[in-house]
Amino acid sequence: MKHIAILGSTGSIGQNTLNVVRDLKRGFRIVALSTNSNIAILLRQIKEFHPEFVCIKDLDAASALRAQLKNKNVKILLGEEGLEEIARNKKIEQIVLAISGSSALRPLLKALDSAKNIALANKEALVMAGPIIMNKVKKNKVNIIPIDSEQSAIWQCLGEEEIGKIKNIYLTASGGPFRNIRVSALKNISIKRVLKHPRWKMGEKISVDCANLMNKGLEVLEAMALFGLGVDKIKVIIHPEAVIHSMVEFVDGVIMAQLSVTDMRIPIQYALSYPERRKTKLASLDFFKLKSLNFYKPDLNRFPCLRLAYRAARERGTMPCVLNAANEISVEAFLNNRLDFSYIPQVILKVMDRHKKVKNPNLGDIFKADLWAKNESRSIINNMN
Ligand code: NDP
Ligand code: MG
Repeated sequence: MKHIAILGSTGSIGQNTLNVVRDLKRGFRIVALSTNSNIAILLRQIKEFHPEFVCIKDLDAASALRAQLKNKNVKILLGEEGLEEIARNKKIEQIVLAISGSSALRPLLKALDSAKNIALANKEALVMAGPIIMNKVKKNKVNIIPIDSEQSAIWQCLGEEEIGKIKNIYLTASGGPFRNIRVSALKNISIKRVLKHPRWKMGEKISVDCANLMNKGLEVLEAMALFGLGVDKIKVIIHPEAVIHSMVEFVDGVIMAQLSVTDMRIPIQYALSYPERRKTKLASLDFFKLKSLNFYKPDLNRFPCLRLAYRAARERGTMPCVLNAANEISVEAFLNNRLDFSYIPQVILKVMDRHKKVKNPNLGDIFKADLWAKNESRSIINNMN
């Protein structure tokens, strides 16, 4: 019986993780769950999975939950301190980190300091502080098992091979909802259209990131950190069918690809059950229905966010953290109707150009750069309105 905690259990990945645990029927005990404020979903999860702890960020939501909770055996924890308490809990063997955005960095660091194995969905934390996180992984002899489908694919293709034997990795991207749209049509595009992804159903922030390929840019940075690869070895390929989840090319020219039906429950289940492979009730991939797989070069004029992410990957230091922070604030402004979708890359570019990079940042430098870039982005957006 593996004892796990799911941080961000009310989101798309969090709920899918609980679907996987339910379907597997045996082998897992949910010790803790967490949410920002969504107590309606959390209450249902408490009733079904009986965690010992739940952590809520929003204080009003926590009071409301306390009033509604009949099960007095559940301890309610609050905010970041609550997440830290979960990270330190000796009973918990693996933490599924499914909080979105930069807020995941502190809980991830605490979990690593407590020598917990991590099933990692969040990508922003690795983009912000990849080398620091991977040093902690090494020092504390723990595992980060990726849930992000591309990184899970690469990790599975790699197996026991040495990183030095990799010639290239190919990150596949479905291309999102605007793969074929005229660039001029991206102006004044509605929130509803941006959030309507053709292949995946996800949280709002990652859906916006997918629509302008920033998500793939963040994944380039994520792969650099996870696998210790130079940016020149990481290629992005548009593959609209989203059946090949990514590929590794080795020095002898052999390419390993990982394929499956397009469903996040597959990489989530592998991250939970690793090193075991467990049966799934999901349908097999039907090659005869598929007929063909297609591949295209990403158009960096249509998708400047991907170009910006490659730039941050080359510049390293605090630049990836700044890219991430500027993107987070721009996406939030877009979702609040305060910024046009097509202006997101412009805000990020301005912030990156103004940033005085720290080459080998410590954690203090990372948090400082994050805060600076968020404030800078807000003031640029305010001046645009
Ligand atoms: P969602 O927005 O659906 O869920 C985010 C979860 O985190 C919710 O439980 C939310 O609570 C909680 N949360 C948000 N902000 C905070 C905060 N400041 N403090 C504590 N908890 C918080 O996101 P997704 O599930 O789509 O994505 C989660 C992460 O996984 C992201 O980093 C994303 O990039 C990555 N990922 C997602 C994929 C997907 O298919 N969805 C695929 C690959 C990676 P509440 O419900 O109250 O808002
Ligand atoms: Mg992905």
